[in-house]
Amino acid sequence: MFCDYHVHTEFSDDSTYKMEDVIKDAIQLGMREICITDHVDYGVKIDVDQPNEGNKEFNVDYYRYFSELKRLKEKYRHQIVIKEGLEFGVQSHTIDQFNKLYNNFHLDFVILSIHQVDNKEFWTREFQNQSTQEEYYTAYFNEMYNVVQNFQNYSVLGHMDMLKRYDEKNGYDVFNQHKEMITQILKCVIENGKGIELNTSSIKYQLDDLMPSTDILKLYLELGGKIITIGSDSHRKEDLGSHIKELRKVLKDIGYTEFTTFYNMKPIFYNI
Ligand SMILES: [Zn+2]
Ligand SMILES: [Zn+2]
Repeated sequence: MFCDYHVHTEFSDDSTYKMEDVIKDAIQLGMREICITDHVDYGVKIDVDQPNEGNKEFNVDYYRYFSELKRLKEKYRHQIVIKEGLEFGVQSHTIDQFNKLYNNFHLDFVILSIHQVDNKEFWTREFQNQSTQEEYYTAYFNEMYNVVQNFQNYSVLGHMDMLKRYDEKNGYDVFNQHKEMITQILKCVIENGKGIELNTSSIKYQLDDLMPSTDILKLYLELGGKIITIGSDSHRKEDLGSHIKELRKVLKDIGYTEFTTFYNMKPIFYNI
């Protein structure tokens, strides 16, 4: 069961990869299933039908997105299963907007990601600027905890410690410095029947551990976590499906026996 559960296309502001090309390439790679998860980041991006006063980037154009997904599902139905997903970049102050969006469309799968805090982006380092690692990780995990306590319309928590992608390599021990809060977050995710994802882009970014880290993956298992999806987070052809098969073996070595796919927001389990 080769599948990719974190895939971006031309419908994300940061990708030009045509959705149909993604599907054709996935078939070529031998995937049996793919879940497209383009970006929605309220607060820093706007919907295509909103007035663009601040020259913001756009969220997914929902009507075009879901109609293209339906067309491709039908066209390639004998070759690959296509699932309808989105990646929600949720912040405490945008929860209502995401609830509304969720109620307007059919989704099989939603990745909940923390991409910004107070509309401050991580990738530009606006959020991390002028604070210590201790301070910005504390703010990041506090925001994550607040969101998972107050938001339910998702399937898995995406790339849980992705902030490390932008860190200087100075040996700061994220897991042990923030173990208490990470434990609280994972407990909340498990209690609410949600899961986490293993994001294989850690290899592309040459991080020295998995994303989330091996320690987090072990802790999630210890706490009784079962739901875990695996995704490449690809935005271009070279990354589609990459490292999924090899990291599945690594998950097995850590102690996982199953990984998950989704249909109508419900988990389906497969043996690793
Ligand atoms: Zn993300
Ligand atoms: Zn993503």
